[in-house]
Amino acid sequence: EEDKAIIEAESSDREEEQGPRAVGVLAVVGRPNVGKSTLVNRILGRRAAVVEDTPGVTRDRVTYEAEWAGTDFQIVDTGGWEADAQGIGSAIADQSQLAVSLADAVCFVVDGQVGLTDMDSRLVTMLRKAGKPVVLAVNKLDSSDADYTASEFWKLGMGEPYAISAMHGRGVGDLLDAAVAELKQAERTSGFLTPSNLRRVALVGRPNVGKSSLLNQLAGRERAVVNELAGTTRDPIDEVVQVDGQDWLFIDTAGIKRRLHKISGAEYYSSLRTQAAIERSELALVLFDASQPIADQDLKVMSQAVDAGRAVVLVFNKWDLLDDFGRQRLERLWATEFDRVTWAERVNLSAKTGWHANRLAKAMRTALDSWDQRIPTGKLNAFLGTVQAAHPHPLRGGKQPRILFATQAATRPPRFVIFATGFLEASYRRFLERRLREEFGFAGTPIQLSVHIRE
Ligand code: GDP
Ligand code: GDP
Repeated sequence: EEDKAIIEAESSDREEEQGPRAVGVLAVVGRPNVGKSTLVNRILGRRAAVVEDTPGVTRDRVTYEAEWAGTDFQIVDTGGWEADAQGIGSAIADQSQLAVSLADAVCFVVDGQVGLTDMDSRLVTMLRKAGKPVVLAVNKLDSSDADYTASEFWKLGMGEPYAISAMHGRGVGDLLDAAVAELKQAERTSGFLTPSNLRRVALVGRPNVGKSSLLNQLAGRERAVVNELAGTTRDPIDEVVQVDGQDWLFIDTAGIKRRLHKISGAEYYSSLRTQAAIERSELALVLFDASQPIADQDLKVMSQAVDAGRAVVLVFNKWDLLDDFGRQRLERLWATEFDRVTWAERVNLSAKTGWHANRLAKAMRTALDSWDQRIPTGKLNAFLGTVQAAHPHPLRGGKQPRILFATQAATRPPRFVIFATGFLEASYRRFLERRLREEFGFAGTPIQLSVHIRE
């Protein structure tokens, strides 16, 4: 089992080097022999999805660049599993789950000649939990006589079953139309539509903390509207703002500049707008008014950014209004109200006078570097081995959960998957997170840890 995880982790180390992200990632999942690799080959239009197989060992996830009807996307093949005797079911579920968690949409393949099996049902449960858009392919329906068979698969509750023959290409076009439509839809919800390789920044905070003042301070005159959708005041306006010699895309500056809070009943709308801006961003600049008590609403905005997994810079604005007493009050607050985000980058500044505004760019770059950071699997495991040797998990009921292996499954934000022999207590997980941060940095980004239990 560890070998599989290692292969999988090395494969994701490699994937990271593949460069810019296409319009979206489609994972092809299904149990062995349903025809996933055949389908991927068909989509790629060449017999490419073949890599070295080591007998008895599973092949890793493989990512390819694909194209359909003028849309580029990435396709992840999870095929190539050899049905070895033990634990293959759960191994496939793990493998598929990782692929799915990294994908924007899923093509779920079943075998129309064999019909539904237990393993199909288990994958359906996993897919439901994952909540990603799914297109359902019923494969091996080589002639149109067999198409009626596909309707049996409506009962999976995974939407319309597409009857296909990966081998002969029947129905694959319709399937791809549906898959690409899902990818584009996913793009829209995750907000990666802006055709730009600039880093996306959401400037957020409750009304009057100084968002528009800061935007003006940063922008001076170097400001270009790049995404002004015609029409109403609701439409987002994204602007390119140069900060410290680098262009950044500030998201939904209309929401920043228009005084929405002064329009009655606009608070709810403004909080939705904040959420939307955070979701479209990579980095959230969360502003506080340092001259005022910290309000629940301040902390709520901060949590929205952290929970969304964005890189975070906390900005304490209006520093020019603080006296010694005020500064002490704030440092006490920092130690209490902000203990959840002690890892965040923090800048004290004055948007009005410009004092320390030049410190922002460095904090933003640091946070995004952490957000992007990937720890190679070997290094991660060597480190966790040392940590565990020095500080094993406490004994519980005569048992001692042990970490078998870990891998960084994702970046943006960093997400670690730990395979352990038993449940790891919250305090131990926090301890691991702290040690990871001490060792590898990660200043300015939330990190996620999930634990998979292996007997
Ligand atoms: P995977 O394990 O899901 O990647 O499945 P493969 O792509 O390796 O296919 C498993 C077997 O099913 C192979 O022998 C394929 O030739 C066969 N197969 C795949 N697609 C079709 C199809 O559309 N029709 C028929 N009749 N056989 C297929
Ligand atoms: P927004 O609602 O978050 O966009 O906040 P604004 O930028 O409109 O600022 C609200 C008020 O705070 C305005 O009167 C600003 O002039 C004032 N303000 C913003 N930043 C500072 C600052 O750094 N120092 C001081 N003294 N006032 C500020």
